[in-house]
Amino acid sequence: MTARNSPTTAARALDHASERIDLAAAFRWFARLGMHESVANHLSVAVSPDGSKFLVNPRGRHFARLCAGDLLLLDAKDRSTLDRADAPDPTAWYLHSALHARLPEARCVMHLHSKYATALACLEDSTLYPIDMNTMRFFGRVVLDRDFGGMALSEHEGGRVAGLMGAGKTVLLMANHGVLVIGPSVAAAFDELYYFERAAETLLTCYATGRELRIVADDLAALTERQWRDYGQLAIDHLDNIKAILDAEEPSYRY
Ligand SMILES: [Zn+2]
Repeated sequence: MTARNSPTTAARALDHASERIDLAAAFRWFARLGMHESVANHLSVAVSPDGSKFLVNPRGRHFARLCAGDLLLLDAKDRSTLDRADAPDPTAWYLHSALHARLPEARCVMHLHSKYATALACLEDSTLYPIDMNTMRFFGRVVLDRDFGGMALSEHEGGRVAGLMGAGKTVLLMANHGVLVIGPSVAAAFDELYYFERAAETLLTCYATGRELRIVADDLAALTERQWRDYGQLAIDHLDNIKAILDAEEPSYRY
């Protein structure tokens, strides 16, 4: 491998290299999982302590082609952002700038229209009932936003969405729309979104049988949710393994 093609050499040339590489890996993996949609949807990570500066995907780029160096570095306080030649998708700007500015502890924000989470968001009853360990992981963590108001094309909409995320909430299930997850790191948010999609898939698969759900008691679901929180290393190992696979199969994500 030449120095030009060495992942570590390329990584050193980027600002915020570790955040860029982690987020690029998440884009590539969501594409592999089919959780992307066309060239839409957006993932971002804060790179300043107050959350105002963040990295997000450029407009119109397929997740499968995204590289660490492609990510836009934006400032939530810069009101001229949408006038830039390389302006991000407006919905990405309004949602992510509001969330990072208002929730600096939410270092990573991921928004997808993934198949099962979106289908769950389109049911009259969008409750993620605790029926297995994955669904129990989200017991008490989900906020349902019932007020779909069209595409998020205003500062008001971004602020409204940010205001819905209370303490301990990691998932915003957006009725008639999709899902948004926040986390303290790219690894944490990625793992949370991966598991939410799996949990929704299991619930909807159960619904498809037409048979009655075996819903566990609230105290057991709450216990299991707490137990999941002791498995923080799982998220780190998850993303590390994905980066190792990508390093072997499509290392361009690091550049
Ligand atoms: Zn959306």
